[in-house]
Amino acid sequence: MAEYNLLQKKILTDGVIKPGNVLKVDSFLNHQIDVPFVSVLGKEFYDLFKDRPIDKILTIEASGIGIASLTAVYFHVPVLFAKKSAGSNMDKELYTTEVKSYTHNKVNHVVASKKFLSEGEHILIMDDFLANGCAVEGLIDIAHQAGAIVEGVGICIEKGFQGGGDRLRAQGYDVKSLAIIEEMDAESGSITFR
Ligand code: 5GP
Repeated sequence: MAEYNLLQKKILTDGVIKPGNVLKVDSFLNHQIDVPFVSVLGKEFYDLFKDRPIDKILTIEASGIGIASLTAVYFHVPVLFAKKSAGSNMDKELYTTEVKSYTHNKVNHVVASKKFLSEGEHILIMDDFLANGCAVEGLIDIAHQAGAIVEGVGICIEKGFQGGGDRLRAQGYDVKSLAIIEEMDAESGSITFR
């Protein structure tokens, strides 16, 4: 029998597969937050990346903020979350990038204030999900605009069959996901992990 890690077990018991390859984990990860549980995931990310010099964790609102914050507690660093702004914003004080939203099927202009991200800072990028990779690529773009160094990418749930994670790994990024879904089926409810 397959051995499952903590997050994989939780996905199997509490996750709900929706049509369109969307997994809902809103009972514990990204709507209601099971803080003691997600804190344990935060400690797992700390153990995975503790040998790296992390100055700041960069994520995207809203669903990355929980896991990023509960990881930052262990690193003793701040969390910066990129904001989804309504329109294009050419404000000189902002880094801006475009992110195609997987779950809402629209393009968001995503911004972060220049005063909170500087050249030479060592960044850990985090998010709840990695699917096609657009959100993480947008965060990498913001980090590069700042001249920051991306030390790694920490993801709770990667949908491996959508390819974003493997593309980032092929580009040399250290992407670590606590659960990688290889296959999921909305009708039967079955989930296979890599
Ligand atoms: P990507 O940009 O990699 O295609 O998708 C990642 C982003 O879309 C994450 O920020 C996450 O919030 C959202 N997302 C992608 N797939 C799922 C999913 O299956 N379930 C949920 N809840 N969010 C998802």
